[in-house]
Amino acid sequence: DLYGAERKNPLGRDYSRWDVRAAAARATGLALADHIAAGPIVGGQLLAGAGAVPLHSPVDRSRLLGAVSAATRADIDAAAKRARAAQPAWDRRGGPARARTLRAMGDALETDMDRLVALLAEEAGKTLNDAVAEVREAVDFCRYYAHLAERQFAGPTTLNGPVGEVNSLELRGRGTFVCISPWNFPLAIFTGQIAAALAAGNAVLAKPAEQTPLIAAEAVRLFHRAGLNPDLLALLPGEGTDVGAALVAHPHIHGVAFTGGTETAWAINRQLAARNGPILPFIAETGGLNGMFVDTTALREQVVDDVIVSAIGSAGQRCSALRVLYLPHDSADEIIATLSGALDALVVGDPADPATDIGPVIDEDARKQLEAHVARLEREAKVIRRLDPGAWGQKGCYFGPVIAEVPSPDFLEREVFGPILHVYRYDPEVLPQVTGKLAERGYGLTLGVHSRIERFAEEVRAAVPAGNVYVNRSIIGAVVGVQPFGGEGLSGTGPKAGGPHALLRYAVERAVSVNI
Ligand code: GLU
Repeated sequence: DLYGAERKNPLGRDYSRWDVRAAAARATGLALADHIAAGPIVGGQLLAGAGAVPLHSPVDRSRLLGAVSAATRADIDAAAKRARAAQPAWDRRGGPARARTLRAMGDALETDMDRLVALLAEEAGKTLNDAVAEVREAVDFCRYYAHLAERQFAGPTTLNGPVGEVNSLELRGRGTFVCISPWNFPLAIFTGQIAAALAAGNAVLAKPAEQTPLIAAEAVRLFHRAGLNPDLLALLPGEGTDVGAALVAHPHIHGVAFTGGTETAWAINRQLAARNGPILPFIAETGGLNGMFVDTTALREQVVDDVIVSAIGSAGQRCSALRVLYLPHDSADEIIATLSGALDALVVGDPADPATDIGPVIDEDARKQLEAHVARLEREAKVIRRLDPGAWGQKGCYFGPVIAEVPSPDFLEREVFGPILHVYRYDPEVLPQVTGKLAERGYGLTLGVHSRIERFAEEVRAAVPAGNVYVNRSIIGAVVGVQPFGGEGLSGTGPKAGGPHALLRYAVERAVSVNI
């Protein structure tokens, strides 16, 4: 069973109420005043680490949020040693007991929602709605993996066999998992990977993204406060090429879970392949080159809403986001005109203001890369509309969202991670060539179809690989237990996050056969 009747999402926040807005503003004020010190957390203690680096908000580069120091080799060794000592007892406790800790973590996240939302807005530039959705997703991961742990890790499953023989299959944790998470879901994916590894009976060494260690440190403290033995979860911040690489090479790890760019996944995969000794599982969740195919039967207003949410919402910083919209010749002009109008109506601003639709991108590097891509679009394609972020562009890492029309169906070679919608007009007569060009790129994350004709949707689905297909709706915002999330090919290895098989790769299976 999936989540069954017991599925209960945590509540959101209604920002149309003044008291809810006031609580949010208070939480933001407190978060900004805090100047959080983050660094390695080993055995529940914050260690000095190496070289504290100040962290500024992408919303306003003059806002100092705190400082973070990187894990040293000695910190990593100490964390791995504690994990190794604590993991067997955690594994022996069994799924139902581990589930209680995960449920306590879900409750703790829910209780701290306002503070977490404020931090997500300041450190990651998330709008209030995106930040609330992210806390809810983190809670969902804890509860859903608790639910799976209770069912899949409660004890051996008895299997059929001949008379006189008892056969069973049991799942056990592998040992210590390295979890490396991205800045675009610094709470939900961070928590989700850890919750999965813990649920399956592992200890965790977690490396947060360089840009978002503060929210990660909050999550680790909450896990510990929720009753998790601190030795089972260490936070080891730092650069991927330094701390990440040291973790992946560490002799006492038993698997790696990673979400981030495809290039980094290749690097980790190569590093794992170069190890001697046990062959370790690698769970990678990477980028996408996500398309949406529209035909002339689609409801245009709905297409426009879903495209804006999917491509421009969350400043395009989701791996599920829409990158290329394929419009049929006959309705392209009208849809493009409506999309341009919808873009103009968006509010770019402070993510902590409930009226804001689009916040900043994550950092200056991201902005520069996106600007370089716009320069290419100006040379080789046609920029149709661009929003001006106004004064915010001087304060923070703001990038004005873009709609551009591209001259060929395979104009994009790779994922461009930001609020840039590429539109291609296709001739319905040659649809298979157009879908074929997208498929050839080798990604396989999300795919959208807008049509009232089932056969059209089926044709597109059959031609373009994708782990998550969305018909007549937006292509972002997969819900735990409802739309298990993850791709294939260049987009990742599976198993899907928030799906019924999520925990299995974190575990070993043992078959026991007894002749009685
Ligand atoms: N699960 C998210 C969604 O469906 C995307 C996760 C990501 O960007 O890594 O939008």
